Amino acid sequence: MKNQPIKLSLLAACCSLAFGANAASTLFTNVDVFNGKDNKLYKNHHVLVVDNLISEVSASPIDAGDATVIDGKGKTLMPGLIEGHGHLLLNGGTLNDHENNRTLEELAARATVMANAAFQSGFTTWRDAGGLNTGLRKTIDSGMLEGPRLYTSGAFIGPTGSHADFSNLTTPNQHINGMQTAMGRNNVSVNTDSISEIKSAARMNFKQGNSQIKIMSSGGVASSFDPWQLNAMSAEEIAAAVEIADAYGSYVMSHAYSKKAIMRNLDAGVKSIEHGFMFDAEIAKKMKEKGAYITTNMTAFSPYLATIPAINDNPASKIKAESAQKAFKDYIKNVNEYQPKWGFHTDCVGGQEACIKQTDHTIYLAGKELGNFFALKGLTSVNGELVKLSGVMDPYPQAALGVVEKGAFADLLLVDGNPLEDLSVIGANEKWFDAEPRDVALDTIKVIMKDGKVYKNTL
Ligand SMILES: [Zn+2]
Repeated sequence: MKNQPIKLSLLAACCSLAFGANAASTLFTNVDVFNGKDNKLYKNHHVLVVDNLISEVSASPIDAGDATVIDGKGKTLMPGLIEGHGHLLLNGGTLNDHENNRTLEELAARATVMANAAFQSGFTTWRDAGGLNTGLRKTIDSGMLEGPRLYTSGAFIGPTGSHADFSNLTTPNQHINGMQTAMGRNNVSVNTDSISEIKSAARMNFKQGNSQIKIMSSGGVASSFDPWQLNAMSAEEIAAAVEIADAYGSYVMSHAYSKKAIMRNLDAGVKSIEHGFMFDAEIAKKMKEKGAYITTNMTAFSPYLATIPAINDNPASKIKAESAQKAFKDYIKNVNEYQPKWGFHTDCVGGQEACIKQTDHTIYLAGKELGNFFALKGLTSVNGELVKLSGVMDPYPQAALGVVEKGAFADLLLVDGNPLEDLSVIGANEKWFDAEPRDVALDTIKVIMKDGKVYKNTL
């Protein structure tokens, strides 16, 4: 592995000293701006950051007094990337391995490395889709650790035998004998089999300060007990999660593969459909009516899918993956036709090197199948809207994310090249497992700013 965490933390210390805290102003001159929303670059612009916000975007030079000037030399200034669906706490091995062989200490320590790797790859915001609670966010926001802003879901919520079930086949039912799984006790994943248990689990997640709720309303591929076709949660059960999220002024994101599960979720008021592989005309119409979003792991359409160790080493998962790939064949055509509010989503549960490769390959697939502009919107402005659905529970309520515009958070990347033409400037790679391991810090990203503070500048 090429990464050297010690070097990175030394670099961080040096940059913190060199650039100071986020009280100063920074002026980017001579940059081409991708604003996260428009399919064009605004050529030769100037962008002023005051404190932690973008205060001006202009085609004319800006007089910014004693602001620190970064001469962009014609490079592209774009919003920091936003991961729509990741799992920092599930960082290597199978779900069963997490349950049986990993202490929370190990998972948490590795999560800090994963957060830093995502950040060095340009992700300044990360929506965590289950498992992670708020401790890592507090640590990053305190300045002790470099990483993205975190929108966490707390424990996955799903019934016994569902995609959220990390127990063994021999594990007694928790209701007979308390919380029987390590993952349950640590609020990583809880099995909920009644309306009151769902409400209780959702309340526990919000109590922890998590920003949204993640439910497992259908089966999945990389888990032990559930066919992907399973409609795991009833309409009433989904509605119970939505009721609590509503009560907290937030929303529910729901793992949903089958059409039946997707429609049930939308009818119940779920705002974020995760995976959503059976997306079609009827779902598109309902999503529009309901103001809902979809985020999808494009690696489901990768020719390399069958070579994933987590799937390949498990014969049941392998069979599931093959039948799922066949059933989901119209997804790409339908997304291109109906253009839903689509968020980028990697969903890696591997270690650092594996997740860097998976993210790079996912960016490539999103661009190839849905177009570079669509992929970039999903990585910036659309995911920026999506995380803001957390409303009252938003840990960063002050400003918008995922856009380069006046008043938005100054979460910015200066990249060497035009991402609308070539996504490799933000890491896209046609290769997946056989890709050359790369440095954690992407060479093509010259500047990383988060919350108005410069964390990297290799200009
Ligand atoms: Zn996931």
